[in-house]
Amino acid sequence: MRIEHDLKLGFKDVLIRPKRSTLKSRAEVKLERSYTFLHSQLQWSGVPIIAANMDTVGTFAMAEALAKHDMLCALHKHYSLQEWQDWLKQAGENIYQRIMVSTGTSDNDMEKLKAVLSIAPQLQFICIDVANGYAESFVDFVSRVREAYPQMTIIAGNVVTGEMVEELLLAGADVVKVGIGPGSVCTTRVKTGVGYPQLSAVIECADAAHGLGGRIISDGGCICPGDVSKAFGAGSDFVMLGGMLAGHDESGGQLVEREGLQYKLFYGMSSSTAMSKHVGGVAEYRSSEGKTVEVPYRGVVEETLRDILGGVRSTCTYVGAAELRELTKRTTFIRVQEQENRTFS
Ligand code: 5GP
Repeated sequence: MRIEHDLKLGFKDVLIRPKRSTLKSRAEVKLERSYTFLHSQLQWSGVPIIAANMDTVGTFAMAEALAKHDMLCALHKHYSLQEWQDWLKQAGENIYQRIMVSTGTSDNDMEKLKAVLSIAPQLQFICIDVANGYAESFVDFVSRVREAYPQMTIIAGNVVTGEMVEELLLAGADVVKVGIGPGSVCTTRVKTGVGYPQLSAVIECADAAHGLGGRIISDGGCICPGDVSKAFGAGSDFVMLGGMLAGHDESGGQLVEREGLQYKLFYGMSSSTAMSKHVGGVAEYRSSEGKTVEVPYRGVVEETLRDILGGVRSTCTYVGAAELRELTKRTTFIRVQEQENRTFS
């Protein structure tokens, strides 16, 4: 046993220090980023915010709403081939830069991935997603997908430490997804005691990835637009959102009415709700590591997206970053013991 004494930080432990700036308005701030990915060598431009591949977030409807702002959607892995085919037919050619196909690592997942890619060879992003990205078998799976699809951009995760980011990049991932335990409907930290505060995970993993020419996604734990800015400020190349995009018309999930108020069902992908729906229940050897909650119904997602984009633009003006690209080098975090004033919350 060993104890690391360095204090690790989450979004709630810091604020961003304002800096003198010549920017006149947040309308001047450019949020688009352009990346050329390490292995695929594909070029991508867009606003690097991604809807999470949960079936109560990452839906076809969400992808269309996000694409209007040049943002991305990692589609959940439970769409049938027919659903994919029907949707792609009407979504138009421009959608391919804006969506990711998700997969787990089982044989069934691999078969399904192959089938989706065979009907939609224009897809550019594969998101290989497991709760625990530390298993050797996961690294092998990433290598196999890299061999099979050398021309595609591969995202792999989740991990939270630099050495594992490097291992996944060397195994063939272009982008590594970072986050264990910070999610709004995640119970991993409670059930297992395992985790890593997200801000520190991002800072450390970004450093490791950028050293090798790779990229990272900060996945989970953002509860407000300010957290999205903090993730970018910490060095993340992309930010993935679940809970912040839940509860909308586009989010999927059942609408529930109670005492005149409307709610939408939102659940973790390893919650008992998700497992009953997709694999017929929670396997005996594992506990469910996700919650099921009802979130207030919030209408169309458009206003929420504007709020997020407006928040990040405003952060950039506070620190004098004319482009999102400059945000990390213009960020100084201050450690704090307070966030917002909650008198009227
Ligand atoms: P949020 O933005 O809601 O804080 O976090 C979203 C992220 O939570 C997802 O992208 C995914 O990484 C993670 N997540 C989703 N479902 C579950 C789950 O059932 N268990 C755990 N441990 N994490 C989950």
